[in-house]
Amino acid sequence: MHPADLIPPSKTLEVDSLAKKLIAEKKDVVNLTTGEPDFPTPRPIVEKAIEALNSGFTKYTDSNGILELRQAISNYLLEKKGVNFSADEIVVSNGGKQALYNAFRSIVKEGDEVILFAPLWVSYAPQIQMCGGIPKIIQTKFEDNFEPKIEEIEKNITEKTVAIVVNSPSNPTGAVYKKETLEAIADLTNRKGLFVISDEVYDDLVYEGKHVTMQGLVKDELLIYINAFSKSHAMTGWRIGWSATKNEKVKKRISKIQGHVASNINSITQKAGIAACSTDNNYMIEEFKKRREFVIQKAEEIGLRYVKPQGAFYLFFETPYDDNEFCKKLLGEKLVAIVPGSAFEAPNFARLSFANSLENLEKGFRRLKEFLGK
Ligand code: PLP
Repeated sequence: MHPADLIPPSKTLEVDSLAKKLIAEKKDVVNLTTGEPDFPTPRPIVEKAIEALNSGFTKYTDSNGILELRQAISNYLLEKKGVNFSADEIVVSNGGKQALYNAFRSIVKEGDEVILFAPLWVSYAPQIQMCGGIPKIIQTKFEDNFEPKIEEIEKNITEKTVAIVVNSPSNPTGAVYKKETLEAIADLTNRKGLFVISDEVYDDLVYEGKHVTMQGLVKDELLIYINAFSKSHAMTGWRIGWSATKNEKVKKRISKIQGHVASNINSITQKAGIAACSTDNNYMIEEFKKRREFVIQKAEEIGLRYVKPQGAFYLFFETPYDDNEFCKKLLGEKLVAIVPGSAFEAPNFARLSFANSLENLEKGFRRLKEFLGK
């Protein structure tokens, strides 16, 4: 069988297609499904792209990304996040998504296992399967803030295990792992010699405390760090993310994979990325904070059983019955679109994105309240 045939079709297709149909019919749908900031890309970034176009910066570049960009990312990581990678250790890719795929490709061989924690982002398992690997999904619990238990991880490690993916803050739950949990995961993977692929694309969006990076916890040669400007700088459509590792062998593989699969990312986006490194995004974070307060208040008011979003821009809550049914009915009857938890291996939950205006959130929650008869 071809590895791509192993990827199951989306479990939320029905809700998805109903939402698309209603939106196409111009119905007054409050769409709270999106995984992207609703803000326009900041002006300085756009200006830099226009300048690149006007100056004819439209040819192939170094497939790792131009040095000026990698150097800018290196400085940005250090100054803003205390994360230390040199320009040589960074490969720029088409979003965090391709950076992740390159990372899996560089370490996963046929039959290798990669440990994932559910609820999880939709593309990890398919990407691993496309590499011939086997995703080993560990279910985490609502009661544990959807953080994994070390004993559970240990039980799932076999001689085939090569890596663990950590995604904190998490999409879809909005959970931010406690520092002790991250330390315990690192301690385990360091002892067992497993790679950690740390997906930190939501690191700027932490509402309580400070983001804890896996760098410094995981041994340098075992860490593949992933980040992107998509969520932090409202640049989802530009396609810019990167992987970084101090493991030279892995870096070389990633670099070759990037080169042969895609060459460089869009040259204009690269220039825009340089501007992103020095563009303040605090105003977006402040706005997300207000929305988060609002959705928490509403969730309390309606009596939802939910995870308090400590990061990212999602409210993850339990549905009173089957999540697909619930989301389909909510959409059909009240024109509010949210994503069934089954999409993230979390049946009986749903994900509501607060990357939307307060006005729309107000409207969405009013309808949700009516729908629940509260
Ligand atoms: N990782 C997580 C957890 C995400 O939610 C996403 C996007 O939804 C990505 C990675 C990929 O982001 P990008 O748009 O940069 O490819």
